[in-house]
Amino acid sequence: MGYTNSPMVVYTKLSPNHSGQRTHSIDRITPHCVVGQCTAEGLGDWFAKSSTQASSNYGIDRDGRVGMYVEEKNRSWCSSSNANDQRAVTIECASDTSEPYAFRNVVYKKLIELCIDICKRNGKNKLIWFGDKDKTLNYSPKNGEMILTVHRWFVNKSCPGNWMYVRMGDLAEKVTKALQGSGSGSGGGSVEKGTQASVLKNLSEADAIKKVGALFTADQKKSGILASVSLAQFILESGYGKSELAQNANNIFGMKCSLSGNTWSGSAWDGKSKYTKKTQEQNTDGSYETITADFRKYPDIEDSIADHSAYLLGAKNGSELRYAGLKGCKDYKKAVQIIKDGGYATSLTYVEKLCSIIEKWKLTQYDVKDSGGEAVRWYRVRMTWADSKTQKGAYKVLANAKKCADQNPGYKVFDADGKVVYEPKAAEPAVKVPFLVKVSISDLNIRSGPGTNFNRVRFIEPGVFTIVQTSTGAGASLWGKLKSGIGWLSLDYVQRV
Ligand SMILES: [Zn+2]
Repeated sequence: MGYTNSPMVVYTKLSPNHSGQRTHSIDRITPHCVVGQCTAEGLGDWFAKSSTQASSNYGIDRDGRVGMYVEEKNRSWCSSSNANDQRAVTIECASDTSEPYAFRNVVYKKLIELCIDICKRNGKNKLIWFGDKDKTLNYSPKNGEMILTVHRWFVNKSCPGNWMYVRMGDLAEKVTKALQGSGSGSGGGSVEKGTQASVLKNLSEADAIKKVGALFTADQKKSGILASVSLAQFILESGYGKSELAQNANNIFGMKCSLSGNTWSGSAWDGKSKYTKKTQEQNTDGSYETITADFRKYPDIEDSIADHSAYLLGAKNGSELRYAGLKGCKDYKKAVQIIKDGGYATSLTYVEKLCSIIEKWKLTQYDVKDSGGEAVRWYRVRMTWADSKTQKGAYKVLANAKKCADQNPGYKVFDADGKVVYEPKAAEPAVKVPFLVKVSISDLNIRSGPGTNFNRVRFIEPGVFTIVQTSTGAGASLWGKLKSGIGWLSLDYVQRV
């Protein structure tokens, strides 16, 4: 079938970084995180430089605008895997600069719409997420099926970040639902719109809390930040800002009268739509950086909530999380103390204020509680118990934890007390050497070692070569050493013969 491009594109700047027409029809979509809250134009400038050596078919910028950098018919340089990029539409999404690399809600919503559009134009009626690398890469999609893949399967990086990774199933579900519900013509393909700030305008205080409370409960399920605490912050801070959301919330809750003043110290209004507060965060090297925290800047309430949650979860002091322990904390008094101790507010009575709001309006009714009241026993996958930074994941179901350990050489499953409950057997070397490979492209680099972090020697002439050793390394799923000893090749761009 002929290739087309998305009508959702509002900005086009074609990148020189691509391999020409695809050699495989489109049956995958690979969402990425940019690691920056970029604009469509900024991303276009970056990909326009040939020295960048990277590109994507589409980008979704921080305001949800869609840019096109490589036409859909062409193979982009995006996922560190030739095999993947030949068949995938790649999408770079504006994200925060550190784990979990959160997307703004407006970006995620646009990603859903763009995936619906890509599926429709390429004759697909189902988007599938298996959540399992081997299963996915060995799967032959049936008619009408589009498959989701992630960059982290091909190279040692987090992309698309944990924020997006945990939403891959949700993305597949929403897109499939829209595709399969669109036959009736009832607004086919449209995605639910966020709750606009204007709905608050004519509500009573009680009705407003009820309406917004449900949104905070939904957010707690995703972010793990207690709904009652976020909701109380929303009410307490409703006096700040001039956005429609801030104004309407303020009309209802009117909290500014009970605070020391009308403005939040250090905050600024951009004269148009955004109300932000600068806060100082310490980097790992000891330097300080000013970052922007937002709460009420979007007209859409979910976006404002998501933005605030992303800030609380991602804020750091040096290498430590600023509000460590907040995620999953089920005790509102403790959670409020964590926020205060992290330096969120300087008011000496901040804890009392927030707790009194929670108690006055019985906000804990919006909290998600563990069913049965039994403490959850987590199984954690790490290299060693002592090094929590190596944690790949925490699982309620042991089988899932084992699967994770199996997929990550060197990792074990620990119980809640730190005892090893599962250790995968060392795998056979996956690749027997020597073997022959065929190079068909003329721009494949020979490098002095196994990784893009090693020096480039020169391009290799197309032909057939003997690989005598393999190694993992940056920038490719596997590297192979040439028999001549001149250097190493990324095996993602060659064929075994
Ligand atoms: Zn990526």
